[in-house]
Amino acid sequence: MLMSAEEYRESLRSLSPRVYVGGDLVASVADEPRLEPGINAVGLTYDFARVPDYAKAMVTTGLSGAPTNRFLAINRSREDLLDKLEAVRLTCQYGGCTQRYLTHDAFNGLWEATWRITQRTGSESHERLKAYIAHAQANDLAIGIAMTDGKGDRSKRPSEQAEPLSYVHVRERRADGIVIAGVKAIVTGGPYMHEFLVLPCRRMREEDRDFAVACAVPIDAAGVTVVSRPAGRPGNAAAKFSAKFAQSVAVVHFDDVFVPWDRVFIDGETEEAHLMTTNYASHHRHSCIGARAGFGDLLIGAGAMMMEANGLELDRISHLKDKMVELIKITEGFYACGVAASTFGEEDAAGNFRPEQIYSNIGKLLLANQIYDMHRLAHEVSGGLIVGLPSPEEDHNPATAPMIDALLRGRPDVPYAHRANVARFIEDLTASETGGWYSVISLHGGGSPEAMKMEILRNYPLQDRKDLVQSLLDRGALDLGKGPSRDKQPGRCCDKGCTE
Ligand SMILES: Cc1cc2nc3c(=O)[nH]c(=O)nc-3n(C[C@H](O)[C@H](O)[C@H](O)COP(=O)(O)OP(=O)(O)OC[C@H]3O[C@@H](n4cnc5c(N)ncnc54)[C@H](O)[C@@H]3O)c2cc1C
Repeated sequence: MLMSAEEYRESLRSLSPRVYVGGDLVASVADEPRLEPGINAVGLTYDFARVPDYAKAMVTTGLSGAPTNRFLAINRSREDLLDKLEAVRLTCQYGGCTQRYLTHDAFNGLWEATWRITQRTGSESHERLKAYIAHAQANDLAIGIAMTDGKGDRSKRPSEQAEPLSYVHVRERRADGIVIAGVKAIVTGGPYMHEFLVLPCRRMREEDRDFAVACAVPIDAAGVTVVSRPAGRPGNAAAKFSAKFAQSVAVVHFDDVFVPWDRVFIDGETEEAHLMTTNYASHHRHSCIGARAGFGDLLIGAGAMMMEANGLELDRISHLKDKMVELIKITEGFYACGVAASTFGEEDAAGNFRPEQIYSNIGKLLLANQIYDMHRLAHEVSGGLIVGLPSPEEDHNPATAPMIDALLRGRPDVPYAHRANVARFIEDLTASETGGWYSVISLHGGGSPEAMKMEILRNYPLQDRKDLVQSLLDRGALDLGKGPSRDKQPGRCCDKGCTE
């Protein structure tokens, strides 16, 4: 089934989650103004899947053979990886962050882990996941990814925490299922999801076995509480983007929540749980690349419009040209890593395709750091007006509006209203609370930079590079370099080849 955005919004009305926003218990998530931009942004993933021109990127074949949303699919080819990357970029051009690709990333990471569990133990793990994915595809669900635990004291392992509930874990195993408890700290789109996928966020050792749990929980299951921030800046006339499209992030508390066995995918299998966490990260970092490229597209377009409104012609001013090229280079540079990660995608033993890990991690690392350059470049080309403009209320003040309209124009043929709109758009995306949100999600979302660096080094064929240099030192012998250095062997100490 492919729901429309309106049907998705309507479907939220059939649920009764316990959601708090700004200290208030929310009566109806679908009708809560503070969550509206988030529902709109997720809604784009639904409506876009019904637009024929976007079908290649947004729609694929589900497990049953019926069409499904790309963000609920298992990758079957490298082309699927490219299509997913494009779909993320497309939806994020319009919604900033549209959340649902996280589900795709979790499904694929879980696919790889549960397949191994079933191979090793003969358990139903993989079949349960398949049944759940089929259920999600058939009902076109929005599923929040509850991975990042509260974590407590970062220097201690989950089982060493003074407060064990700072990590979600299994408290009880019963004949019909498990009981989980604890807190997940940062869940994008938390309030307006249908369900949550609970996943472990770090490597678990044997002593942390109870924390190595992956399962699915309906948002309105007994014992689930969602404590959310508003999505973006709803109701703020200056928020030209995030009053309409943004994401909330939420704390999700699991207070002794019962999960039936058919919704439990990992329970104590620490090795496969670790594989799930790292492989999810590769899928997700690949998605982050598409998401931030969509954001880059917005800054490039708005930056060019702001220069024009200021009366400056890009073609004629070399330093502005340089800055725009820099913005384009950054955006397309990390996106190219996403394309490379797709093109060199790896087929997993479980039968799905995963983005190549080094390019996926490098792309995410680039954007994590360069988001600050992107903001700076947008600020440089725009000028200080983006934070200096009088508030939108002044646009309707008869005492000041005519003066502002006449005197705060840049290029004479560009109306003040247009210049103000573009300036506020850039402020919203780069210099407001929303702008800060985009910095922090780029930096930490999908893992902090150190996590990417570790993965790059772990996957990089360093030995091959050493072998290459060794073989060159050995005067080009291609099969050399795998054993101890041959530099000192007779005949190899110089390019003439001494014999003694
Ligand atoms: C806007 C936003 C949306 C997000 N959405 C989701 C979501 O939908 N679902 C989800 O599960 N997660 C989500 N995340 C969470 C994201 O994955 C985490 O922020 C990220 O993994 C970092 O974890 P943390 O925030 O707990 O920071 P920390 O783990 O506290 O890290 C802070 C710093 O300390 C360092 N550090 C931490 N522990 C150690 C240690 N033991 N030794 C040395 N250094 C250490 C880190 O490298 C980092 O530099 C989101 C994050 C953001 C910002």
